[in-house]
Amino acid sequence: MTSAATTHRSVTVRVPAKVNLELKVGPRRPDGFHELSTVYMAVGLHDEVTVVQADRWSVLVSGPYADQVPRDETNLALRAARAVGRQVGIDDPLSVLIHKEIPVAGGMAGGSADAAGALLACDHLWGLGLPREDLLETAADLGSDVPFVLTGGIAVGSGRGERLAPVLARGTYHWVLAVSPDGLSTPAVYAECDRLRGDADVPTPEPTTGMMTALRSGDVKALGAALSNDLGDAALSLQPELGEVLVAGLEFGAVGGLVSGSGPTVAFLTESPEAALDLCVSLTASGVAGEVRRAKGPVHGAHVVAGPSTRG
Ligand code: ATP
Repeated sequence: MTSAATTHRSVTVRVPAKVNLELKVGPRRPDGFHELSTVYMAVGLHDEVTVVQADRWSVLVSGPYADQVPRDETNLALRAARAVGRQVGIDDPLSVLIHKEIPVAGGMAGGSADAAGALLACDHLWGLGLPREDLLETAADLGSDVPFVLTGGIAVGSGRGERLAPVLARGTYHWVLAVSPDGLSTPAVYAECDRLRGDADVPTPEPTTGMMTALRSGDVKALGAALSNDLGDAALSLQPELGEVLVAGLEFGAVGGLVSGSGPTVAFLTESPEAALDLCVSLTASGVAGEVRRAKGPVHGAHVVAGPSTRG
């Protein structure tokens, strides 16, 4: 039986993964981050984050990657919820429930997505109505990719990726994502990038004309040709088998492919939903890629799908 004394209010937010269509890595900054220029696209692989009023703080995770997600204080969604509470002076504990569909440590901003989800969910649960600029500022403090997954669509990221600018873009794109069974640590990939570069001069990163023109035209082949990632060599150096995945996807008809962010997920661009399905079948049948998923983009950023509602 449900009584007034045991009802708990909850809010659920759905939040997408990202693919970096272009990732230019500039010099390492004094704070340890690298200066970046990146073009993000939000893609239709979503986590759902629910915050529920509770008697103590906790994290519960479900979904295909649940066993790879920490449930302690290091969980990024929990950290985000606590940070919002601290910021506005609310000390009410919450249960944070995460349904995880975004690969973990896959270069698709999965943890950042959960942080963005928790941030927006707390804003709604606690009726804060934080202005967009404040949400984005808190998001940037939580992680470099958090502002983008909150915003969604397609955007250029500069600084360490947290400063967003809109991009003129048209079209819907069909992706095939080859998910590696072993994740890659983002700091390890940047360190490998630095090691491979040695003392070479690194120019200030900026978006390329090829990428901007491709997005403006909506031409999938031009976009496929413009995909690029400065972290690709570092990810391949740490997981050489990704090279075989890339070659296979392109041989099987993708119009372009690259390591997503710091990897190891390899993202292939295809010409149509049918071509995406064909590529999934070919990659799976070849045995070169373990898990293969499809996603379209761009999609919306974090949005409330349920609540505030009352749970018994
Ligand atoms: P990015 O693309 O932003 O560099 P990523 O997608 O490669 O990140 P994440 O999935 O964010 O990587 O995971 C990075 C690490 O963060 C994982 O190893 C995991 O232990 C930790 N982590 C903490 N909270 C979460 C969460 N809610 N979901 C996933 N990982 C989390």
